[in-house]
Amino acid sequence: MKIAIAGFGALGARVGVMLQQAGHEVTGIDGWAAHIAAISTDGLTVHQDDGATKKYYIPVMTAKEIDGKFDLIILLTKTPQLDMMLTDIKHIITKNTKLLVLSNGLGNIEVMEKHVNRNQILAGVTLWTSELINPGEIRVTGTGSIKLQAIGEANAKPIVSALNKAGLNVTLSQNVIEAIWHKAGINSVLNPLTVLLDANIAEFGMAGNGMDLSLNILDEIKKIGELEGINVDVNAIMKDLALLIRPENAGNHYPSMYQDIKAGKHTEIDFLNGYFAKLGSEHDVAMPFNALVTRLIHAKEDIERTK
Ligand code: NAD
Repeated sequence: MKIAIAGFGALGARVGVMLQQAGHEVTGIDGWAAHIAAISTDGLTVHQDDGATKKYYIPVMTAKEIDGKFDLIILLTKTPQLDMMLTDIKHIITKNTKLLVLSNGLGNIEVMEKHVNRNQILAGVTLWTSELINPGEIRVTGTGSIKLQAIGEANAKPIVSALNKAGLNVTLSQNVIEAIWHKAGINSVLNPLTVLLDANIAEFGMAGNGMDLSLNILDEIKKIGELEGINVDVNAIMKDLALLIRPENAGNHYPSMYQDIKAGKHTEIDFLNGYFAKLGSEHDVAMPFNALVTRLIHAKEDIERTK
């Protein structure tokens, strides 16, 4: 399959390598000049968790440079960057191109619907992880999985088998929206609270009222989910959190929002707690915890950006 990865950052590069190794024709699209230059000159350097370091040669170029027709475009920008990416790659999207978004957060499907027909859209959630440590250099740990579903009438099965040929561990979901909300619930707890408490995931989990704070956020999300017709299983999210805080799982890690804040970047907060708070305003339902967390993260973004 001819596949473009739009957003060839930490996760896009990992997925791109796996797809290329399985024999797909993969091209990366990215706008970060130093990253493109490093990959084009020396290849993409991948540090694996078995201690090995490997190089992969994958063409990566800017949206302006890319040309041709693709069967599949996998969207892996940060969520606030998705709209701009879709504008920039308009010229390579034909009516036969399918677009799969794997970025975290809510609102991605609405953004895609502004650019392409609903029948071209697939959405997913992924548990694969990757860290971008330098331009052209990523560190990958563990394995992962993807749940995806076509949002309109597209046949998702050929895409599932193409991705599974690359070992991406994909299952066809019957309710991807619920899976997206579930993951957004987890991220709406771990991402902002580790930033605000300056803690890694295990430290947050051990904090006296860490789990109470999680429930404050999740109970609001459940309430807004009921009004949107989406079941949010707070107990299931709390069980996942209890697993994630263990040091042998994700406990020793700092979530991506923590890393974005430290790098002086915009975070995905408006597509997590901020999105839920906005839905609360639309339904006239108070969402004090999610609204406050959103405002505090924006304040933190401002503080870190000026350092
Ligand atoms: P990242 O910032 O490393 O990668 C995004 C890339 O997109 C960057 O290299 C950036 O230069 C590029 N980009 C953005 N807008 C662009 C534009 N208009 N034109 C060209 N290039 C553009 O982010 P990431 O960590 O790979 O995460 C991507 C998404 O996947 C996020 O929503 C994140 O929450 C989600 N996610 C990440 C991980 C992970 O482990 N990294 C795990 C699960 C989900």
